[in-house]
Amino acid sequence: MPIEILMNILAQDIKYLQGVGPQRATLLAKELGITTVGDLLTYYPYKYIDRSHIYKICDIDGNMPYVQLCGQILSFDSVGEGYAKRLIAHFADKTGVVDLVWFQGIKYATKNYDCRKSYIVFGKPTVFNGRIQIAHPEIEAAPDHLKAQAQTTGNLFSTSSVNPNLQEESIDSQPTAFKGLCPSYNTSEKMKKSGLTSAGMAKLTANMFKVLKDPLPETLPPYIVSQHRLMPYDEAVRNIHYPTSAEALRRAKLRLKFEELFYVQLNILRYIKDRQLRYKGIVFNTIGEHFNNFFYNHLPFQLTDAQKRVIKEIRTDMKSGRQMNRLLQGDVGSGKTLVALMVALIAIDNKCQACIMAPTEILAEQHLATLRKMLGDMPVRVELLTGTVKGKRRTEVFDALVNGEVNILVGTHAVIEDNVLFHRLGLVVIDEQHRFGVSQRAKLWMKNSVPPHVLVMTATPIPRTLAMTLYGDLDVSVIDQLPPGRKPIRTIHMFDAHRQRIYDLMHRELQLGRQIYIVYPLIEEQKNAPSAISKKGTNKDKLALKDLEAGFEEISQAFPNYKVSKVHGRMKPADKDAEMQRFANQQTHILVSTTVIEVGVNVPNASVMIIENAERFGLSQLHQLRGRVGRGADQSYCILVTKYELSSTTRQRIQVMVDTTDGFEIAEQDLKLRGPGDLEGTQQSGMAFDLKIANLAHDGQILTLARDTAQSVIDSDPEERNQQNNILWTRLRQLRKSSINWGAIS
Ligand code: ADP
Ligand code: MG
Repeated sequence: MPIEILMNILAQDIKYLQGVGPQRATLLAKELGITTVGDLLTYYPYKYIDRSHIYKICDIDGNMPYVQLCGQILSFDSVGEGYAKRLIAHFADKTGVVDLVWFQGIKYATKNYDCRKSYIVFGKPTVFNGRIQIAHPEIEAAPDHLKAQAQTTGNLFSTSSVNPNLQEESIDSQPTAFKGLCPSYNTSEKMKKSGLTSAGMAKLTANMFKVLKDPLPETLPPYIVSQHRLMPYDEAVRNIHYPTSAEALRRAKLRLKFEELFYVQLNILRYIKDRQLRYKGIVFNTIGEHFNNFFYNHLPFQLTDAQKRVIKEIRTDMKSGRQMNRLLQGDVGSGKTLVALMVALIAIDNKCQACIMAPTEILAEQHLATLRKMLGDMPVRVELLTGTVKGKRRTEVFDALVNGEVNILVGTHAVIEDNVLFHRLGLVVIDEQHRFGVSQRAKLWMKNSVPPHVLVMTATPIPRTLAMTLYGDLDVSVIDQLPPGRKPIRTIHMFDAHRQRIYDLMHRELQLGRQIYIVYPLIEEQKNAPSAISKKGTNKDKLALKDLEAGFEEISQAFPNYKVSKVHGRMKPADKDAEMQRFANQQTHILVSTTVIEVGVNVPNASVMIIENAERFGLSQLHQLRGRVGRGADQSYCILVTKYELSSTTRQRIQVMVDTTDGFEIAEQDLKLRGPGDLEGTQQSGMAFDLKIANLAHDGQILTLARDTAQSVIDSDPEERNQQNNILWTRLRQLRKSSINWGAIS
């Protein structure tokens, strides 16, 4: 079958598959996003159950995870009224009796299951009132060769759980029908009500394979399949749903994971290649007056070696003739702002403008202040553009920008808007990149006839596997060194009950002239939450704000000699900024806030970060918050306050924070503990197709192999002339078409 025909079959509406129909089709689409046969094919089982064994009823107990039995229903009982109403079937083999119980679907069970017929029953045994029962079992007719085994002697008492006379009787022949591992599919409550349980889904996949009876064509060129000794595609998809053996399952998983990651990488590398072929970069060949003047006369301290190295890497990119697309990773406090400034000065030396983009107004304003201060009396004009720059002021900035009088524009995403026009934009720096997506980056390119160089900076270290996938189109530079003289922050985990000890520490630091942050979680800031959760979130949000108010009152009373201020997202931006400014100027001593201070804010005199309800934060967020202190030469503290009862993952998360201040280590742990789906920014990247089977936390090796393979395809066949690779490009275009994310940028 050629690949095009396969694509057509896979694109068929799921509605027409035997066992689906319009109602279930709607349900599948709503609950799982399955609309085509292809969607069902890639709806992989989440686990497999070994159903090769049929248990004797006398051997089972309530601790077993699941059992498979073969026997007959002796009789039915209807018990209870209303909500407590249930149907019990007394199910027996030659060794004993168990109760099968239904709380729902009673009618269906009564109608479809008969006394004295032989069934295979599968489910989780539990003990209720001293009797073993299986609630909502999966049931199917026993195959002929097992019927004899299902026979009971016919004189069992339906109430006795074990018949002592029969206990010794053995079942000689092991069944042969259920050799395999059976797939378990995730389904929702709504689906289960329509019969789409895991077993129901298995029936659909079985029906699907009836339609797909001819071998499915390869989706990778034969030379790649043989190079890595991959299982053929057809074998892999059949085995992933219905494994013939554990080994076959392992190879099927490997093949499908490889393929998935391979196409993601091919997509990224193809994109980079196209970008290189389509766009030239502005050549910055001078290091001139501005850079040198700053370097020799204005630099407030020696650059760290890491800063020097990174500036060199960026410089090399910018004079290469190719457009730079570089990710600068550097832990909080590693001095990225200075790098951004010096790189901007190179742009200015080459008669270009630079634009620095920050995720929040506070940060943009802080960058503006920092840059102006560092530049001193140098003839470099820096202007601000945010949502609050309005009216006449805005027009002035716009005019000066298009005239080329503004050298550096600092702003929020307001700078992306179409009416913001530059004279000659040569460099874009995006700070704290995880809040900007690929499509937003691409929008900035259009602001100059030749696309500007792009530097994205992040203080949220990204594990290698994620970076390769989500930001795989960027070259990476790393500042792996903090400016000298910093003492590592001490992180302490405390329970609510330790309040007095926390106050003691606060008093001590305040007396030393230091300042303190206290942060409360704000649920509202959770993005991409499903609607049901975000509704709940609004209530919690109010609660959180109440927490913050209460905390503010309590602290004000406990520290009457100090000025306490508060900042949260519901305040007017101007008020918020004024409070932040007062804290930065040391006019206030304790700042009680929500996470609005999370990113980038720099107050070196602050030495204590107290995080309330620390269990509610993600690791990368905790790391960001902690990074607000430890910016001066003195010992700083981060206190993580939690309730006493914590889940074991939460306990581990907190322990990671206590054990290390290494952002990369934390990012790796975060990926392991939470899984990649939850990491901030993953949805916005736009580079990765949905991963259905590969897991970036665990499949690093396969990913590397996939990337290398994709790279060699692009290198050896940049113009897509090799016939053997046709299959790759067809498939890639198909995947792009079906990927919403990709559509936004191509
Ligand atoms: P981040 O990488 O988190 O954005 P910043 O750029 O805000 O870090 O820098 C943190 C602090 O370190 C600032 O106060 C900055 O002035 C200071 N700093 C930056 N580079 C150096 C250096 N080479 N030596 C000493 N201090 C530095
Ligand atoms: Mg910063």
